[in-house]
Amino acid sequence: MRILIAEDDPALAGALQHALRDAGYAVDWVTSGLEADSALQDSELDLLILDIGLPKKSGLEVLKTLRARDSHLPVLILTALDGVNDCVRGLDYGADDYIAKPFELAELQARVRSLTRRGTAGSPTLLKHGALTYDQVGRTARLNGEVVELSAREVGLLEILLRRPGRLISKNQLVDHLCEWGEEVSSNAIEVYVHRLRRKLESGGVRILTVRRLGYTLDRPDPQ
Ligand code: CA
Repeated sequence: MRILIAEDDPALAGALQHALRDAGYAVDWVTSGLEADSALQDSELDLLILDIGLPKKSGLEVLKTLRARDSHLPVLILTALDGVNDCVRGLDYGADDYIAKPFELAELQARVRSLTRRGTAGSPTLLKHGALTYDQVGRTARLNGEVVELSAREVGLLEILLRRPGRLISKNQLVDHLCEWGEEVSSNAIEVYVHRLRRKLESGGVRILTVRRLGYTLDRPDPQ
């Protein structure tokens, strides 16, 4: 597992490198957006830890460039404590997760584990989340074995949430994903779909949480 850290604060980058190497990852470190760009061009990487506030080219621009190349590399962005807007834009540009500074190393390591697992696990046909199972081929959801009747929109929404359990998904990301069907979906409509889907799943203990100003996340399932 190879991780690239793009962070211009040497103390923070040093601590991250140390902790991640201890956890068995190979770690590269760059200190500017331009260096990050070139490291991302020619390396076999499993995760990018990306500071938003980078010199020469901002983290958001690096992310944009990366996603414009159709790269699906998992990206964890580091934002300042008051960086809510950065964070929303980062998620809109295709970041997979974010963590606000200052953070506990243990928290960061947990996020890294979750993101790198996703990167290598491939895409199983059956996704499970507590009492919910979702068949990605047949596009059917079951709660405790019972089929849940879902509209096409709700199915789309559920797929996005299930593929990123515990991670935040912005409304704009949901709009983008749902619009792949070639229809206009407004951000208000997203609220309605989320509301309906939430009602259909709550009896099975599957919770869709609203994170104010940021988006939605699928809560951890209740232990079975
Ligand atoms: Ca910085």
